[in-house]
Amino acid sequence: MNPVNQRIVLLGPPASGKGTQADRLSDTFGIPHVSTGALLRSECARGTVLGREADAATSKGLLVSDELAVRIVANWMQEHGPRFLFDGFPRTVGQAAHLDAALTSLKAPLDLVILLELSDEAIRQRILERISCLKCGATYSTSLHTHAEGDACPRCGATLVRRNDDTAEALEQRLKVYRELTMPVVGYYEETAPRILQRIDAGKGSDDIFAKLSSLVVGEN
Ligand code: ADP
Repeated sequence: MNPVNQRIVLLGPPASGKGTQADRLSDTFGIPHVSTGALLRSECARGTVLGREADAATSKGLLVSDELAVRIVANWMQEHGPRFLFDGFPRTVGQAAHLDAALTSLKAPLDLVILLELSDEAIRQRILERISCLKCGATYSTSLHTHAEGDACPRCGATLVRRNDDTAEALEQRLKVYRELTMPVVGYYEETAPRILQRIDAGKGSDDIFAKLSSLVVGEN
């Protein structure tokens, strides 16, 4: 199956499954998965200047500055080129406009913007049950899987942890930020590129969502 669409943005609230689905799509279609959250966590873990700058915001559930987010994506794109599945970028209208400008200058327009929609109630439940591998990005639910904090990640062997922003307090802040800053990004694409915007119910089973996403990636929409 050859992907028709190779420049893809996944939008959605925390725990809507962006990371899990992006991983599966990347394995199936060979399009690189870029999670700005994971790039920032890796900078934090390595104790870089950029990581220290990011940690102050991310641990409170706040966004890092547009300047920092755009910088980290520009660095990535310079190294890897304009084929991507963005998960967690753009998260503000400013970031979306920056991405458009960068892609216009590369003559490589965005192919698809997919919004994964999930209720606040489902988000709260998923986040408070979530443990994560900070090394490979895998996530597990303490209610669905038999894994607990401190266990080895079944995929890469690193230690599973609760992310420092997967707490009740930081989550409320992330939901507020999502509503105030990221929902307008959907409006931005409704205005500038309505033909490439697709909505998916993220409350469905993971395999159903993957099937729907795959059909969008190969252009069967
Ligand atoms: P989630 O989608 O589950 O909230 P992410 O891993 O995508 O988590 O992001 C974690 C945190 O990293 C965010 O709460 C924010 O602080 C920061 N972050 C990630 N991407 C961006 C971005 N594009 N702009 C600003 N901050 C970002």
